[in-house]
Amino acid sequence: MSLSDTSFSIQPVQQSRVGDVDWDNLAFGKIFSDHMFLMEYSDGQWQAGEILPFQPIPMHPAMSAIHYGQSIFEGLKAYRNDDNDTVIFRPDMNAKRFIESAERMCMPPIPEDLFIESVRKLVEVDKEWVSTKPGYSLYIRPFIFATDELVGIKPAETYKFMIITSPVGMYYSEPVRVKIEEYYTRAAKGGVGRAKAAGNYGASLYPAKQCQLEGFHQLIWTDAVEHKYIEESGTMNIVFQIDGKLITPSEDSDTILRGITKRSVLELAKSWGVEVEERKVSVEEIIHAARNGTLEDAFGAGTAATIAQIAIIGFRDERLELPPFETRTLSNKIKDHMEDIKLGRIPDVNGWCFRV
Ligand SMILES: *Cc1c(COP(=O)(O)O)cnc(C)c1O
Repeated sequence: MSLSDTSFSIQPVQQSRVGDVDWDNLAFGKIFSDHMFLMEYSDGQWQAGEILPFQPIPMHPAMSAIHYGQSIFEGLKAYRNDDNDTVIFRPDMNAKRFIESAERMCMPPIPEDLFIESVRKLVEVDKEWVSTKPGYSLYIRPFIFATDELVGIKPAETYKFMIITSPVGMYYSEPVRVKIEEYYTRAAKGGVGRAKAAGNYGASLYPAKQCQLEGFHQLIWTDAVEHKYIEESGTMNIVFQIDGKLITPSEDSDTILRGITKRSVLELAKSWGVEVEERKVSVEEIIHAARNGTLEDAFGAGTAATIAQIAIIGFRDERLELPPFETRTLSNKIKDHMEDIKLGRIPDVNGWCFRV
């Protein structure tokens, strides 16, 4: 389907709920905008998409996604910029990743143009939900799940592609404490770590809960074979800074989720002449640098927070404290710059913002 003949039927709400939102007390991901997008897959193809009032969906008790986990998702954001335009940050990248996730999980992919247009149209219909308040945005959650009504393990023949959106406020992160995990595993070679597959997150809850009992917020995941190489932090990609260089685990194995925030961070840094190394990053190297004070910075990168600077890294019985946030000039600059691009304060030379 080409973009020009993409049109969705729209069933608008009688009355918007946007006036009832308590903007000063928004809990992340609990409030949903007026409309949602729905498109069904049957008879070997995606059927016509529709935008309709946000509402519960009927569900058969044998619905295959619940039993066997054919379920994938994406996460991206829309912003209201200083010119009062609504923009979506790099939805083409999410579209491409969604296709890869679908293929890995034997699910029918959504063509890139169709994905972008369905996200764009839904945000356009609910653009009053994209707040102008500083730090606020509209979180967009596209997902596909299998809807066959049968208990039997095989790729389903029917699916739903849906998009829901949720207004979110400033992401206040208290200084993040992370622990290097040497037992539990997020993803193994040959597994589904690269896909944004629902089961990956269910599987991460128990290990995360264990580290929270020890006073950490999140884990730093290591490789499944030897637990010697760093992979990601919680549900964010991880970047370190040593001697002015940005160092991050390379994504050539299929165990690391290819984050769009991290990619953008690295592209920006490179454009400023910062040296960037994408390679294997050993636990030993990072611990050594943290002990001798050469680890200048470590941060998580992801859509929710953009950049979440790490205050403390736990390794076995050690608690390694990183330099104060004020001294982390590079990641602070990257964070501000990303914000400025989204808000139209500096030219978007890379074409990252898609106007709604
Ligand atoms: C979504 C996600 C990320 C971050 O990806 P972004 O595209 O930057 O939001 C990183 N790691 C995991 C495991 C994720 O699920």
